Amino acid sequence: MSDLPRFETHEVFNQSPPYQDVDLFAGDQPLQDAVRANGAAGEVDALSEFGRRWGTADMMAQGRLANENAPKLATFDARGFRQDIVEFHPAYHQFMAQSMQAGLHVMTWNGDGTPAAAPAEVARAARYYMVAQIENGHMCPITMTRASVAALALEPAVMTRLMPKISSRRYDPSFRPWWEKSAITLGMGMTEKQGGTDVRANTTRAEPAGDHYRITGHKWFMSAPMCDLFLVLAQAPSGLSCFAMPRFRPDGQVNGLRLQRLKDKLGNRSNASSEVEFVDAFAWLVGAEGRGVRTIIEMVQLTRLDCAIASAGLMRMALAQAVNHTRHRTVFQKRLADQPMMRAVTADMALELEGTVALVMRLCRSFDHAARNPAEAARARLLAPAVKYWVCKRAPAFVYEAMECLGGNGYVEEGMLARLYREAPVNAIWEGSGNVMCLDVLRAFAREGDAARMVLQDLARACADLPGVADGLAFIAAVLKGAEPESNGRAAVERLAVLAAIAALVESGAARLAEMFARTRLAAHGGAAYGTAPVDIGAAVYLLDRALPA
Ligand SMILES: Cc1cc2nc3c(=O)[nH]c(=O)nc-3n(C[C@H](O)[C@H](O)[C@H](O)COP(=O)(O)OP(=O)(O)OC[C@H]3O[C@@H](n4cnc5c(N)ncnc54)[C@H](O)[C@@H]3O)c2cc1C
Repeated sequence: MSDLPRFETHEVFNQSPPYQDVDLFAGDQPLQDAVRANGAAGEVDALSEFGRRWGTADMMAQGRLANENAPKLATFDARGFRQDIVEFHPAYHQFMAQSMQAGLHVMTWNGDGTPAAAPAEVARAARYYMVAQIENGHMCPITMTRASVAALALEPAVMTRLMPKISSRRYDPSFRPWWEKSAITLGMGMTEKQGGTDVRANTTRAEPAGDHYRITGHKWFMSAPMCDLFLVLAQAPSGLSCFAMPRFRPDGQVNGLRLQRLKDKLGNRSNASSEVEFVDAFAWLVGAEGRGVRTIIEMVQLTRLDCAIASAGLMRMALAQAVNHTRHRTVFQKRLADQPMMRAVTADMALELEGTVALVMRLCRSFDHAARNPAEAARARLLAPAVKYWVCKRAPAFVYEAMECLGGNGYVEEGMLARLYREAPVNAIWEGSGNVMCLDVLRAFAREGDAARMVLQDLARACADLPGVADGLAFIAAVLKGAEPESNGRAAVERLAVLAAIAALVESGAARLAEMFARTRLAAHGGAAYGTAPVDIGAAVYLLDRALPA
C-alpha cells in the first residue's frame, strides 16, 4: 500500500510579518516631533492611546471590509415608492462612530461655532493623519461636517440651530429629520455637469419662498449623500448663493433630493458619491445672496487642509508597510533593507515624509492661530493651496513606490497597498484640482501681496543659508509677482511648498533633516524616482530608524 501524497507541498518562509497591532503614534517619530513642535505636546498620551486603538489588526480588517463592500443606492422600496437612501456595510458605520466619538468632525470648534483654542487643529490633524492610514472613505463626511461650520458662521441663526447636533459625538445613521437625531453630518454640493472648477456657471436655480428658498437643478458629484444637510450653490435673483439644504423639510417630509446614481469610483470606495437632482428642495440661505463663492470658500479652505493631511497619512502607511517588509524579506542571502539600492529608495521616501509631516503640521499650527495672529493668517492663506497641491501630487507616486518595495505582494488586494494606491489620486482632484490650487496661490499674491511677501520673508529667515534656498526664493518671487508667465505656476508653487517644508523642519529643530531636504529637493533637481537622491548610509539609517523603530 503506497502512502497518499501529502496535500502540503512546501513550507512558507521568508515573508514579512503583517504590519498590524501597532501604535500608530509611538512608532512614528516624525509625527511625534511635529506634534511637539507645533504646540500639542500635552496631547501625546491621548494620541498614543488613539494610535494603539486605530493600529489594531481588527481596524485594518474593518478598513478592508468597508471598501470591499461598497455602498448601495436604494432608490425605491419594494412597492415602487422613492426612498433615496444609501446602505453601507457595518464596517463603514463602525468607522463613523469611532471618528465621531473622537470628535474629528467638531473638535476644532467650541459649542457656539467659534474656533476652539490652540492646539485644536494640530491635535485633530494628528488623529486625522492616523485615521487616514486605516480608512479614508468615511473621512469625507467627517471632513465636510467639521469644515461646514466655517461657512455656517456667516449665518448665525442657522448655525445656532444646528450646532448642538453638529457638536454631538454620538453617531446616528438613521434616516430621520435632523432634529430627531443624536448627531448629524453635513455634505457639500457645488460641482455640476458643466463645471466643477467654474462654479459660477452653475445652473441650479433658487427661488425665494418666504423665510426659505426652493431649489431646482442638479449636482454631478455630491459625496456622502446620507448626510443630514448639504451646503449647496445655486443661482438666486442676486447671483450665485450658498444654501443649507436638509434631507427633511421642517414639516418632517422628505426634502426634494433625488439620488440618481452612485459613482463607480477608482478608489474611495467605502464612501458613496452621488449624482443628485433637486426638485423644489427646501433650503435656507447662508451668507449674503450673490456671495455664494465667498461663503462656501470658508468651508473649502478647511477641506483642502484635510486633503493634505489625508495624503500624508496614506504616504505614512505606505512607507511603514515598505520598511516593515524590507526589514524581513531576504533576497540573495541579504535582507532587502541592507541592499544598498533598496535602502536608498526607502530612505529617500522617509526623507520625503519627514518634510511632508513637518510641513502639514506647521500649516495646522497656522490655522490654530489665524484668528488672532495676522502673520499666521497670511501663512494659512498663502500656503494652504500650495501644501494641498504639493502633498496631494506627491502621494500617488510615493504610494506606488512603496507598493513596488513589496514586489508582487504589494500588488494584490489582500494587502493594503493596492487600496492605498487607488485612494491616493482623489485628494489632488477634489476640493480644487492641481492647477486651480496653483492659480489660488498666484491670486493670493496678487490680491494680498504685502501679506504674502511677509510670509516669504519669514520662510527665508528660517532657512536662508541652506542649499538651493536663495535661487528657489528668487524664482518663486519672480513668478508670484508676475515677472514670469502663468505657465510657470506649478514650478513656483512646488518650490514654495518645498521651501515651507524646509522652514518647518528648521523651526522644529531638525537642522540635519532640513539640510538634507534642501540639498535633495531644492538645490538638486535629481531623478524622477525615489532612490535617486544622494543620501549616504549614515543618513539612511538615521531616517529609517525614525520612520519605524527596528
Ligand atoms: C470622488 C469624488 C467625490 C467628489 N465629491 C464632491 C462633492 O461632494 N461635492 C462637490 O461639489 N464636488 C465633488 N467632487 C467634484 C470635484 O470637486 C470636481 O471634480 C473638481 O472640483 C474638478 O471639477 P471638474 O470635475 O468639473 O473638472 P474641471 O473643472 O473641468 O477641471 C478639469 C481640469 O482642468 C484644470 N483647470 C481648471 N481651470 C483651469 C485653469 N484656469 N487653468 C489651468 N487648468 C485649469 C483643473 O485643475 C482640472 O485638472 C467630487 C469628485 C470626486 C472625484
